[in-house]
Amino acid sequence: MKLELNIQPLSTWLNIKNEPLIISGPCSAETEEQLLTTAHLLAATGKVSVLRAGIWKPRTRPGEFEGIGSIGLQWLKRAKEETGLPTAVEVANAKHVEEALAAGVDILWIGARSTVNPFTVQEIADALKGVDIPVLVKNPINPDLQLWIGALERINGAGITKLGAIHRGFSSYEKTSFRNEPMWELAIQLKTLCPELPILNDPSHICGNRELIPYISQKALDLDMQGLMIEAHVDPSVAWTDAKQQLTPAALAELADRLTIREPESANEVFVDKLADLRKDIDKIDDLLLQKLAERMAIVGKIGEYKRDNQVTILQVNRWDAISKKGASFAKALKLDLNFTEKFLELVHSESIRKQTEIMNDGKVEEGIAAEAHTDTVQS
Ligand code: PEP
Ligand code: MN
Repeated sequence: MKLELNIQPLSTWLNIKNEPLIISGPCSAETEEQLLTTAHLLAATGKVSVLRAGIWKPRTRPGEFEGIGSIGLQWLKRAKEETGLPTAVEVANAKHVEEALAAGVDILWIGARSTVNPFTVQEIADALKGVDIPVLVKNPINPDLQLWIGALERINGAGITKLGAIHRGFSSYEKTSFRNEPMWELAIQLKTLCPELPILNDPSHICGNRELIPYISQKALDLDMQGLMIEAHVDPSVAWTDAKQQLTPAALAELADRLTIREPESANEVFVDKLADLRKDIDKIDDLLLQKLAERMAIVGKIGEYKRDNQVTILQVNRWDAISKKGASFAKALKLDLNFTEKFLELVHSESIRKQTEIMNDGKVEEGIAAEAHTDTVQS
């Protein structure tokens, strides 16, 4: 699948003051003083290209601070006049779009809780018809790439060509060190489907705490993301929302200074030659891996015939246990990542079962049955 979006390159619609592109500002606009002070301090760092602030806040429980509302747009307008920074706000319905446009907001973003709902996204898209404004679409709360893509398509379908995505991580049931699991592979898949789509990263909402923000920021840049949206507050300890994950403007400047910008390509000839050599080595190993997999599958085929002729079941849980235990200890000795090795062996095993099931049933079996059978064994 290819994702066809009609978009303009980021550099044509955003004046990036400093590499990397940083959008920063408080999670929420709280008071005029808080917003203006934060904006001035951020502007003074020279590291920030866009000022963000939440005006309408989607909160999990009612009764929590739900955003200062329309008055905040006037504070943002003033912040822009005084600092020269363009502004960005989150919009979650047509009324927000109208008010933000009327107040001269420069960039709109769609939050994770809105991206999950196609009705909401379509309402926003309809309100944007005929308007020329940049829109950034955050990933949905749940790890569903199609929902993210669908939202981008709806906004693009309304004629918005100054379009980008924001990777802010995904909610997961398991408690981890992150507030929202990064699941980088989803952002990478989006980039692969549409290489011209700018993708920014939001380390604040991924981390949920200040400490991990530098690590995630650097990783995002190393994965060739085009910029960062980081929450900053004049005094994070008293922030009305997301207090734990906001930086002071000074800390933001320090973070920006420490980031290493690596180029996706290098013109240096020695580097290019060395890279080409290393890639050749990798290609050779990949060929060998595939050959070995084909040899393994040929033996699996023989086992399948043997089991069929002797009326033996395909699945033998003990055998799978033995393979995965042996694999785990070998992987450890080889310093391979255990999780990766486990997933790899599971995939190979699942393909072996599919192949044997096919042989057992003389090629008449549906692929899905084998896959299900594997899930059952692995979980047992
Ligand atoms: C925010 O940016 O403050 C916000 C609410 O983010 P998200 O939609 O990613 O949760
Ligand atoms: Mn926030």
